Amino acid sequence: MAAMTGGGNRARPGEVSLAHRGVLFMDEMPEFPRPTLEALRQPLEAGQTTVSRAAAHITYPARFQLVAAMNPCRCGYLGDGARECGRAPRCGEDYQGKLSGPLLDRIDMVVEISPLTPRELSWAPPGEASSFVAARVAAARAIARARYGEDGASTNAEALGDLIVLAGEAKAFLEMAATKLRLSARGFVRAMRVGRSIADLAGIEEVQRGHIAEALGYRHKMPGRTALQGAG
Ligand SMILES: [Zn+2]
Repeated sequence: MAAMTGGGNRARPGEVSLAHRGVLFMDEMPEFPRPTLEALRQPLEAGQTTVSRAAAHITYPARFQLVAAMNPCRCGYLGDGARECGRAPRCGEDYQGKLSGPLLDRIDMVVEISPLTPRELSWAPPGEASSFVAARVAAARAIARARYGEDGASTNAEALGDLIVLAGEAKAFLEMAATKLRLSARGFVRAMRVGRSIADLAGIEEVQRGHIAEALGYRHKMPGRTALQGAG
């Protein structure tokens, strides 16, 4: 755990601080020990991490973008059309259960990717060039920076909720969906921020209902929670 968040016998910054202002990539996230995963909650929320020593507390900066990958179950075949998970659905429930609700609540976007068939791999048309995507992202970030000013938040992810203006219809939709999905207060604000980024990418000044719906579609569906289907 110290390697991740800092500390140890002679206090030193951990991976979350080494990734400050950059990306922390975790492959096969559920394979990390539970205490290490739970220790991510504080830096994900506060952008810093505090190490307690006998004599003092040491705080390290840790404002990073978390990118994590995982299989849907331990054997990796759950939901795969070509092969079958022999222990479904337990295999997936046990594996996905290693990520706690409070940790998932701090992850804004969950995207499921199905494996490609050999035919798709060889015949898929080339996607959009990364340079085009990068230019779009840079333009959206410039809009956000101009909105918050030099001393304000540097990204939508850091913006306070009251700085994110939703169209009346979008606000009503989010409130209704939040009740249906049993969103936490944190999830509510995070959905607003993601919606803000989607609107910025589209070059639209006021966050619309469609942007909020898309943002909510990226939130992890916890087992037992109501899906958004029919929410509007
Ligand atoms: Zn499996």
